[in-house]
Amino acid sequence: MRSERPLPEPVVRIEEVRELARDLVVIPNRRVQLVPNIGVIGGTHSVLVVETGMGPRNAETVLGFAAEYAAGRRLYLTTTHFHPEHAFGAQVFAGEATFLVNRAQADDLATKGAAYLEMFRGLGEPVARQLAGVEIAVPDVVYDDAYDLDLGGRTVRLRATGRAHSRGDQVVTVPDAGVMFTGDLVEAGQFAIFPWFPPHDTDVSGIRWIAVMRRLADASPRVVVPGHGDLGGPELLADVRDYLELLRDETWARRDSAVSEQTIAEEVRALMIERHPEWDGREWIEKGVGCLCAEHSASEHSASEHSASEHPA
Ligand SMILES: [Zn+2]
Repeated sequence: MRSERPLPEPVVRIEEVRELARDLVVIPNRRVQLVPNIGVIGGTHSVLVVETGMGPRNAETVLGFAAEYAAGRRLYLTTTHFHPEHAFGAQVFAGEATFLVNRAQADDLATKGAAYLEMFRGLGEPVARQLAGVEIAVPDVVYDDAYDLDLGGRTVRLRATGRAHSRGDQVVTVPDAGVMFTGDLVEAGQFAIFPWFPPHDTDVSGIRWIAVMRRLADASPRVVVPGHGDLGGPELLADVRDYLELLRDETWARRDSAVSEQTIAEEVRALMIERHPEWDGREWIEKGVGCLCAEHSASEHSASEHSASEHPA
């Protein structure tokens, strides 16, 4: 997925575990590609795990840690979206934890899980190894837009955001601790991941993503746990919003003057790298340009589309 260097083994390690608040820890991804930041959030009677890691072996590591951490408390599992390193270990939690997600994500898993499994197996031997034996899990509990999970003395908010990085993105917040798990709606130290793979997958929406970032900022979290990369504060939300808005503006300005998509991608890529020379994942810039070009055409065809997508339900 990146050309700069080969993908390392995407293995979750229980190292550098950070306590963000009382009874709330993160297993950091240590900047390893295709390893997500994983949360474990406790209450008096239950513990919620956020993300599984990629494949059954990583998920066994996560479950082992969580079960020991829970020390007899009831286990729940949720995932921020259906992508393989976030959700393709859920099968291991069957019978051990209640797997709870938003409906759009459950639909993504059911309709696109198998295709993503195949696509990711093509990313190289280390990834294929971790994906061996994956079975796409079926969630135990599915909610529509919002779910408040009572862990005992602590309520965690699960909120479907509407289509942005994927069709079924979900954000998990722990209000008493001011902690927000964003999944891939936010990355630290890398360009926003646009899984724009026409004609197979065109669910990502740059325009809706910008609107989601504005709403997330309103929650004013103290700590933001991105999908990948170092934890930070609310500035991580602002960084992503600023990047997406700049990407949109630079793309659309060129689209308005009928520049070819190839030229737009080259020019915008150079601009964005100049703006963020330290960020990884440069290959995602032109995917973002492709997505926003398509959304520009769509907005021309329907003036109402733009205003509607700025305020998704
Ligand atoms: Zn993702």
